[in-house]
Amino acid sequence: MDFFDKLSKKASETYQVTKEKASNLSEELKIKGKINELNEKIEKTYDTIGRIVYNEIKDGKDVVREEITEKCEEISRKKDEISKLEEQLLAIKKVKKCVSCGAAININDEFCPKCGKEQPKVEKVEIKEEPTNTKEAEVVEINNVENSNNEDNENNN
Ligand SMILES: [Zn+2]
Repeated sequence: MDFFDKLSKKASETYQVTKEKASNLSEELKIKGKINELNEKIEKTYDTIGRIVYNEIKDGKDVVREEITEKCEEISRKKDEISKLEEQLLAIKKVKKCVSCGAAININDEFCPKCGKEQPKVEKVEIKEEPTNTKEAEVVEINNVENSNNEDNENNN
């Protein structure tokens, strides 16, 4: 019983390390997928704005400012979301950008080692689960990680 306890403990520790690597990787892919998705939505909104302006000018009408403003605000909100997600991407790599000089600094630095500026805490953004194609990409990437680990073990033995 002891032997199997130890064996399963060791296996679960190995599993934990692999799982952490994989979860960082899948988190990274999830964030990148979300950024791509937001960029696509921004492009579509630019198209919509262009179409609204075109149709109104073509018909000799005045462009309705409210309609355009609403779309512009939508783009700005998505851009804000993207910059938060980009911060999170850096945080996974234990890196953040200095708010003053933009240097890549350690995630735990309270002050920038380059310019000395005090750094705000990195904000965690909740990613809404939406059906995307990234799910398949995640699975492929995780399998690759496990395979490369196996190869390492073989080389060590
Ligand atoms: Zn700095």
